[in-house]
Amino acid sequence: MSDKNFVKGRRPAGRRVTLRAPAKVNLHLEVLRQRHDGYHDIETILQAVGLFDRVTVELAEEYQGGEPDLALTVSGARGSVPTDETNLAWQAARLFCRETGVSGALTIHLEKAIPAAAGLGGGSSDAAAVLVACDRLFGTGLEADRLERLGAEIGSDVPFFVKGGTALGRGRGTMLTQLPSVRTGQFLIVKPDLQLQTSDVYGALKMGLTVNSATANIQVIRPMLSRFPQKTWPGFNRLEDVVLPAQPALQRLVLGLRQLAPVAMLSGSGAAVFGVFPEGRDLADQAGEFEQTGLFVRTVAPHPGGVEVLQD
Ligand code: ATP
Repeated sequence: MSDKNFVKGRRPAGRRVTLRAPAKVNLHLEVLRQRHDGYHDIETILQAVGLFDRVTVELAEEYQGGEPDLALTVSGARGSVPTDETNLAWQAARLFCRETGVSGALTIHLEKAIPAAAGLGGGSSDAAAVLVACDRLFGTGLEADRLERLGAEIGSDVPFFVKGGTALGRGRGTMLTQLPSVRTGQFLIVKPDLQLQTSDVYGALKMGLTVNSATANIQVIRPMLSRFPQKTWPGFNRLEDVVLPAQPALQRLVLGLRQLAPVAMLSGSGAAVFGVFPEGRDLADQAGEFEQTGLFVRTVAPHPGGVEVLQD
């Protein structure tokens, strides 16, 4: 066994950590400008919700030494989820080992409940869960800030899932400020059998040299979080401008939800949409109607945290 597997004198091999990794929706998303690195600067309010992938990471006793030996399996996936190095969870494990100087044989299992390519951040949340799991398994004791910085190297949404709750995201979404957690409201999430790739959606925006100023929006929006979800919620999703005209079925869904819920919009780059209803309203009939048309439907609560260790 490699010496690198021993961190601060501890022998961590032969252990397993199980976590739950929440989905997110965007309560607001403005696109400010295209950056030179190809990403866009955005201003967004991210909200973790109680729809969870279950992520298990095991560090084997047996390990030949050298490069990390990674294996990944996936169950329950809706949409195509890769099991190779293109999976964000795989990338998280590899990056963690490289950046902290540890190595080992890691087996990752993703039990997917979050649909893929939905704008619900499922892959990003899995990646954050793997970072947290590796930190436990190798006993590296990294601060949340360090985990967030590692996460930003994997994807723009990954850092958010370290703390989760309700947060303002700036830059390409990775510069985070925690906001007072939204604790009420029922989130009815609906997704047609349609996968949208985030890069395609941002590409369709064709920002060119356009620079939007959105600071005023956030100043208006932020204080209104304490009364969320109210009919006068000023948050919006700029990506609807390109997604909805191209996807009439999604347009109908969002407009339909807006008739029913005080707040309804596309989540991230889609294809999930969500409506937020006041506490106590019985949503069974509404959910049932969507389900009958073959859509993915879940009614979930806001989640005040990020990825959580269930079993260690
Ligand atoms: P985001 O809102 O963060 O852009 P998303 O919710 O739209 O992401 P994901 O579920 O993260 O989308 O999946 C986006 C793409 O990434 C999928 O097409 C899938 O092939 C790939 N992918 C890589 N790793 C994962 C993962 N762990 N779970 C789901 N999809 C993954």
